[in-house]
Amino acid sequence: MTARWHVLNVRVPDALDDEIAAVLGSGSLGVEVAAFRPGMTELRVYLGPAEDPGVWRKRAAQVLSAHGLPADASELSIDPVPDGRWVERWQASLSPIPLGRRFVVVAKESALDQGGREPIRLIPGMAFGTGEHETTRLCAAGVEQQVTPGSRWLDLGTGTGLLAIVAARCGASRVLAVDSDPEAAAVASEVLAANAAGDVVEVRVGSIAERCGETFDGIVANIQSSFFISNAASLASALVQSGVLIASGFLDDDVQDIASALRAASFRVEARASLGPWVCLLARRGEA
Ligand code: SAH
Repeated sequence: MTARWHVLNVRVPDALDDEIAAVLGSGSLGVEVAAFRPGMTELRVYLGPAEDPGVWRKRAAQVLSAHGLPADASELSIDPVPDGRWVERWQASLSPIPLGRRFVVVAKESALDQGGREPIRLIPGMAFGTGEHETTRLCAAGVEQQVTPGSRWLDLGTGTGLLAIVAARCGASRVLAVDSDPEAAAVASEVLAANAAGDVVEVRVGSIAERCGETFDGIVANIQSSFFISNAASLASALVQSGVLIASGFLDDDVQDIASALRAASFRVEARASLGPWVCLLARRGEA
């Protein structure tokens, strides 16, 4: 899948910009607030490749209408983002983002003292995974809990490589990080090198097939729900007996279907965590 970024644009009266930006920005990658003309502000809500623009359009229209603003008058529009340069600007200005219990994600140039948390350095680039998104945070917390020293992990849909780095820092002896988007894989390689994780983490372009028969003690996958439904059996066979799957990237509504697909493939769903509407499941491979 090639990354498709979208930006949702909407023009709102100044008096409402903070409130609408907060509501509309929740779950997005970030909101840019720009003066449009006196009294009016333009909000640009950036959406990652996993987001459905149709769903966001509907959500935005609802938020506007709740504030007495018709979508037409607010010039609501959603456009593909032609290049990733805004991501670079935005990531460069990132404030540190705490991740799990132990880490903090910082832009490359940031000072290293982060209140006792261990920094993971992010390099601006066109890939998903700054540590801000709920699903990344849920997965990072799961990885922190589940990685045991010397264990082997597969990070499926690595994006910037953040979760692979968390696994390596928590003691994994090998992490295979794959992403079907070559651009993401390139960003991940750079971020891994900047975090001196390159000797533990190997990056490959592709998906679960690129494990080439290797098995793992754990898999972390922050990917769209359809992936888990179509690949439950392959996920099980990529794990050793009792290996653990940390799965996120989907909403509450999808959990039932994903859990049944996982159970049919021998997994036991052992725990569930959520942040806002986003869910993370922890499942353990049973007897095949
Ligand atoms: N792991 C990061 C990024 C998650 S975004 C984090 O948690 O923050 C999901 C990533 O999965 C994207 O980079 C996307 O390119 C990749 N992806 C989507 N479908 C995939 C598939 N079938 N196989 C491998 N990677 C996939």
